[in-house]
Amino acid sequence: MFGPVPRLLWDRLVSDEIDHEHRLLQALNCLLVETPAGRVLVETGIGDRIDDKTRAMRQVEGPWIAPALRSAGFDPETVDVVALSHLHFDHAGGLLAGDGSKAFPRARIVAQKAEWEIALGSNPRLVASYVQPELQLVHAWGAESWADGEREVLPGVSVVPTGGHSAGHQAIVVRGGGAGARTLAFFGDLCMRPWSANPRWVTSFDDFPLDSVEAKASLFARAADEDWIVVLSHEPFHPVGRLVRDRDRFRYEPG
Ligand SMILES: [Zn+2]
Repeated sequence: MFGPVPRLLWDRLVSDEIDHEHRLLQALNCLLVETPAGRVLVETGIGDRIDDKTRAMRQVEGPWIAPALRSAGFDPETVDVVALSHLHFDHAGGLLAGDGSKAFPRARIVAQKAEWEIALGSNPRLVASYVQPELQLVHAWGAESWADGEREVLPGVSVVPTGGHSAGHQAIVVRGGGAGARTLAFFGDLCMRPWSANPRWVTSFDDFPLDSVEAKASLFARAADEDWIVVLSHEPFHPVGRLVRDRDRFRYEPG
């Protein structure tokens, strides 16, 4: 999780969260964006199609995205767009239900074309985080509406390529309407947890870490200067907050 950052610096940040198997507690945050033009779901989590061994190894707990949406009062059939920051297993796993049917039958899937290409490619280092047999099942669905660059998927809701964490990683940016409305950003795995606010703190499973550092520095500067609402991808405790400038880096303030 902390890539090149020495343990001395990160240890105290997570000392309450690490279990006896040295696993770190991570949330799978999914964001539902309600607009006059339709509903956008951002991310789908790990899903319900993992085998028992993987479930135990990762100690996956809680409902997958479809029942989670229903218990929040939303029918998955009413989702118009599913926007995925990238296609790693913990973000794209919930596109299909346990029985293999589409979990969001009316939705367009929007991930970057470059992400699909690398996810289904053959580089052994890069494919480790993708579950290719599962992605093959949804490839045609994803190809109907993938983005090739920045795109507004519904009025006010855009996907913005960032690269870094994965080749085709994208941020999702929601611009509020009306005077005084704030912009909201979901930076995907470029901003997993509060400590991700430092552009140089990148994980060892960022596929292109130097691109991450650069993308984070420029995106976070905008988010801080324009006081965007920021939603963290894997933060269990305080997933919604803002970024503020702090010396040569940024700091995450929950709220
Ligand atoms: Zn992730």
